Amino acid sequence: MSDPQLIDGRAIAAQVRAEVAEAVGALERPPGLATVLVGDDPASAIYVRNKREMCVQLGMRDLHQHLPATVTQRELEQLVSGLSEDPGVTGILVQLPLPAHLDARAVIRCIHPDKDVDGLTGESVARLTTGQPGLRPCTPSGVMRLLDATGINVEGLDAVVVGRSDLVGRPMAQMLLERDATVTSCHKGTRDLRAATRRADILVVAAGVPGLIGPDDVKPGVVVIDVGIHRTRDGVTGDVDFAAVAPLAWRITPVPGGVGPMTIAMLMDNTVQAVRLQERYAVT
Ligand code: NAD
Repeated sequence: MSDPQLIDGRAIAAQVRAEVAEAVGALERPPGLATVLVGDDPASAIYVRNKREMCVQLGMRDLHQHLPATVTQRELEQLVSGLSEDPGVTGILVQLPLPAHLDARAVIRCIHPDKDVDGLTGESVARLTTGQPGLRPCTPSGVMRLLDATGINVEGLDAVVVGRSDLVGRPMAQMLLERDATVTSCHKGTRDLRAATRRADILVVAAGVPGLIGPDDVKPGVVVIDVGIHRTRDGVTGDVDFAAVAPLAWRITPVPGGVGPMTIAMLMDNTVQAVRLQERYAVT
């Protein structure tokens, strides 16, 4: 039996994957995911390989594109624009970071928002901010799914998000706001972080600082979601001092096995959502 206090990301991600496989099976044509990898960075290559393998496992088409590190801005933009126009492509993911000579923002602008499975285009951000249907970034979507699967309704609760990156913290705050939480966004410029985090009913930590949140930073009964990932000699740890904070929390995600497994599962879910968006707007 798993500990009821722990939010089990592995089990919830498996549930998401099963739902995606079922949805894919019910479609006339399997969705196709185009991962775009530029160069040979070993970490990026592993991330992309994992995404491709899961895509195939769930019955989707793997439309991977690998380009040499010497590719020009123009060539890369042409490739991504071509994928955006190709009706055989459902989702596009450009693996970041790109080599230094390439402008990632300009490349992302070439992704059609209905195929933007990472939720990074300006239009996807605008849709999230204005509460319109669209593709949301995978990690904060995974956090929302963890909360939902645990039966936590955030409406009216004080939610505090530590970190405001484009990929995690900022969209996280928007998604909690969309669900009627009262949201506080904290960042490097926050003067009194502890005063903010101690108010939290739901505390999402995505600062990239190992052990940033300790027992004096939370109130008893809090729900803690630790997005941080740090590879140390003692294994993988998060932004929260788990051993010290867990006794105070009502629910808490472990690291590893919390948010981590959700991100790739939500990418698969986004690829199915992209089918629905494209049907809805009949763009391609
Ligand atoms: P980032 O470096 O882009 O952003 C960090 C944010 O935290 C910034 O907004 C910064 O202002 C804020 N911050 C930094 N130090 C702070 C402090 N002392 N007090 C308050 N705010 C502070 O990082 P990111 O890409 O958002 O990632 C954050 C963490 O989440 C990293 O550990 C990363 O590895 C992890 N991550 C995990 C997943 C996953 O799938 N679980 C996905 C993405 C990122």
